[in-house]
Amino acid sequence: MEKGNAEKPLGNVTYLRLSITDRCNLRCFYCTPAEEWVKLPAPEILRYEEMLHLARVAVAQGIRKIRVTGGEPLVRRGVVEFIRELHQVQGLEEVCLTTNGVRLQELASELYDAGLRHLNLSLDTLKRERYRELTGSDNLLEVQAGLEKAASLGFHPIKINCVVLKDLNDGELPDFVQLVRERPFQVRFIEFMPTVAKGKWSRHFLPMAEVHRRLAFLGEGEPQVRQTAAGPARIFRFPGFRGELGFISPISEHQCPGCNRLRLTAAGRLRPCLFGKYEIDVKGPLRQGADDAALGRLFREAVELKAWKPEFTDPETLLACQQMARIGG
Ligand code: SAM
Repeated sequence: MEKGNAEKPLGNVTYLRLSITDRCNLRCFYCTPAEEWVKLPAPEILRYEEMLHLARVAVAQGIRKIRVTGGEPLVRRGVVEFIRELHQVQGLEEVCLTTNGVRLQELASELYDAGLRHLNLSLDTLKRERYRELTGSDNLLEVQAGLEKAASLGFHPIKINCVVLKDLNDGELPDFVQLVRERPFQVRFIEFMPTVAKGKWSRHFLPMAEVHRRLAFLGEGEPQVRQTAAGPARIFRFPGFRGELGFISPISEHQCPGCNRLRLTAAGRLRPCLFGKYEIDVKGPLRQGADDAALGRLFREAVELKAWKPEFTDPETLLACQQMARIGG
């Protein structure tokens, strides 16, 4: 990692994941299970003007890409206006949204008009019954309609994040492959991380090596060059495909040394590492009137606290890091 300097105070860290709410309209068993879910009190969640203020501070420190996440970002009132304003932050080069797509059909046009183009859709199954089983909701048709609407409006890229779950959706790998054969989407297979799903992780974890083995019939793909602010996915193109396949292995192949991201939680805390032990409160100083120089220092401190190597040896210990929805994935 390059040391901070005047132009790049955060070194290679150029990407901020911003969780705008811990609320979600789904109850995926591995993320927001109904039985374990404790919501943040509303005053604890950053207000939009506070997030915009912190976005400007972050950009002054070298952040170039902000992903709006949650919880489910599209359940927070005013999200379209917030995304419009985020696009106006000087120096910010990329604004992306990660959504479960339940409200996408309804909001896609407004989001497009607000300037949004980059969309990540979380979708682990293409089967209605399984969708109900994984998410606790019968919304697959709405999500698929939202995806079609976004594609017809011209959102690009559209990335579909699929958490691979052994004995649940792993039989659908060929269906997702077929999807990107026919459509210009990027499907990214993601390893299941042990967060809130106590006891279920070892039962449903499928290492990425096994995913590759099962997709060996595709042959060698052509690796795609990553953009500077890209995430940890390894992306491949296959002959005759309209779309691409990506592979994200947070458990079996850590990407720590090349990590370029920080996370700002819905509660206004900066997380240097997804599974790290540190969080820095920025909401407190912001609400107490800290100036931008002091807030900028907190971003630099967060980068200094990045571990650059996995801080765990036993993935099961990650269960301590409970609330992915609050962190934003
Ligand atoms: N609600 C939005 C969505 O569904 O995209 C944004 C928040 S969600 C926490 C962000 C991503 O984290 C989703 O793609 C979700 O599948 C992923 N995620 C949550 N818990 C996970 C886990 N235990 N393992 C792997 N991915 C997980």
